[in-house]
Amino acid sequence: MSESLEDLRSQITEISLELVRLLNERAAIALKIGAAKRKQGHSNLYDPIREAKLLKQLLEASEGPLADDALAHLFKEVFKTSLALQVEDAHKQLLVESKRATAVHIGPVSFGEAPVIIAGPCAIETEEQITEIFAFLSGLDVQIVRAGAFKPRTSPYDFQGLGIDGLKMASRIAKQYGLLLVSEIMDADSLEEALPYLDAVQIGARNMQNFSLLKAAGAINKPIILKRGLSATIEEFTLAAEYIVASGNDQVILCERGIRTFETATRNTLDISAVAILKERLELPIIVDVSHAAGRKDILLPLAKAGIAVGGDGIMIETHPQPSIALSDAQQQLNMTEFASFYRELKKFINEVKK
Ligand code: PEP
Ligand code: MN
Repeated sequence: MSESLEDLRSQITEISLELVRLLNERAAIALKIGAAKRKQGHSNLYDPIREAKLLKQLLEASEGPLADDALAHLFKEVFKTSLALQVEDAHKQLLVESKRATAVHIGPVSFGEAPVIIAGPCAIETEEQITEIFAFLSGLDVQIVRAGAFKPRTSPYDFQGLGIDGLKMASRIAKQYGLLLVSEIMDADSLEEALPYLDAVQIGARNMQNFSLLKAAGAINKPIILKRGLSATIEEFTLAAEYIVASGNDQVILCERGIRTFETATRNTLDISAVAILKERLELPIIVDVSHAAGRKDILLPLAKAGIAVGGDGIMIETHPQPSIALSDAQQQLNMTEFASFYRELKKFINEVKK
């Protein structure tokens, strides 16, 4: 006797209900896999090879009457839905937004407590220049110095930096004076060679979305100073930092360095709101580079004070023994007398704010 239509319908209902239960159970496991991957520093949630293997296994196990094409189509939808769920979950709570267990340090200097001042010339030029400025900065008790060996210049005809030899020289002199050295690395390939000579790696504004560099920075265990892109939104800046943390390195310091606007009085417009918003939203320290924001010398102190007042964890500033003959950013670098006064005034302000 054939089953009644009613019977058949009730079987379909039962199986559909079971499918709903199973699909949700599957989705819950997919979410756990996504979370585990992120915890292990695998930012890539989609694995097409694993998916193809599973699909093949499923089709081999199928006894019909569903055609392989139909089954493959159904499962592709299941896979897609799981992945979308994992991505949505990752965005709901970015790693850079979750509570951090460890503070960010450059050497013994910790960020997120007392504001840190990072100073030094735009570029490494000569042994004499570096010796003079590092000796001066160490005398003022600056602990972290900056100096570029790989310079991202707008024109290919402008000074491009001394490269790895310059970095080696600056590293040796920094050590001599007990200073920690920060320098920009422009591509993933140079990272490994440069690493022994650096206490922190700077990723410059022009490379904020150089994703292979961000991933490579995530795979090392040195702190990263990530500068905001020239025209990057706060969201893009946040996700660039997420790339580094999701790739396994949570030692990230953000750096607001001004963004492009219609204003021509300054080189860039220092986005003070971004500092406040990022401080509130993320678990990462943020410093303010006043030199590249202003592009001029006369407003560096008020900008630095504003950066600290709004919650910034430090200031980056350029200083050169002879700014007038500097090979890059001559107009914005303070000479040593100007820097000493800037430093004294900013320290005074920091102490007053603390009270
Ligand atoms: C720098 O700090 O040397 C520099 C080039 O800055 P930015 O990447 O912010 O332009
Ligand atoms: Mn510069």
